[in-house]
Amino acid sequence: MAQAGLHALSGVAVGKVVSRREWFFLGLILGTVFPDLDNYVVAAATIAKLDTHGLHRTFTHSLFTILAVMVIFFLISRMLQQPRWANLGLGLGAGIGMHIALDLLIWFNSVELLWPLGGWVNLWEDIQPPAWFATLLQPLELLFLALYFGWLGKTARNYGTNLDFLGTLRVWTILMVVFLLVFTPLAFIMGQRFLIIFGVVYLISITAAVVITVRMRQTVEAWPPEQSVQPATLAK
Ligand SMILES: [Zn+2]
Repeated sequence: MAQAGLHALSGVAVGKVVSRREWFFLGLILGTVFPDLDNYVVAAATIAKLDTHGLHRTFTHSLFTILAVMVIFFLISRMLQQPRWANLGLGLGAGIGMHIALDLLIWFNSVELLWPLGGWVNLWEDIQPPAWFATLLQPLELLFLALYFGWLGKTARNYGTNLDFLGTLRVWTILMVVFLLVFTPLAFIMGQRFLIIFGVVYLISITAAVVITVRMRQTVEAWPPEQSVQPATLAK
């Protein structure tokens, strides 16, 4: 069984980096969610009956975006004289990079890696995934959000952080599970109309993931076991 060891090793590896860099891991988590916020632009264009072509997996999924984010946060950190903003930018950049890599590996779709210069990449050019798989990937978003919220709750209880928020987090976790159970059959029964209902719930859910991550940053930052500074627990 390699998984447990692998998880332990990756935890140690991330922990070593994060323990010295305040807000890096927070940025990394936010960065993995950020690129798909471009779905807001797609939704707005759809409502306005505009062309949605080239709006998804383009301007938020580009290597230049990673660079721009890191430069902007570096400048903010210099202006404020607070290194943690640069750490946040580095984390965001790493997270966006991880998101792009995962999109390329599992979504069977292309990503405009060098937007605005083009550079569409599709690792699955000649492979058409079965329709049921593409359909299933949509409700699965909710499963992974539920798992992420579950992890946040468990970590918060372990470290005694953000305990005041655990009730709200539990509601969101249960909501994700309920939506997963309702939407999985609906995705297969409803066809195209499903996408409208799912789109609304999806946008609300990923926005909640961003807000909850920022709200529970104390927990996110406490996660790496070697973390030397734990603001909440030490301050009390
Ligand atoms: Zn994406």
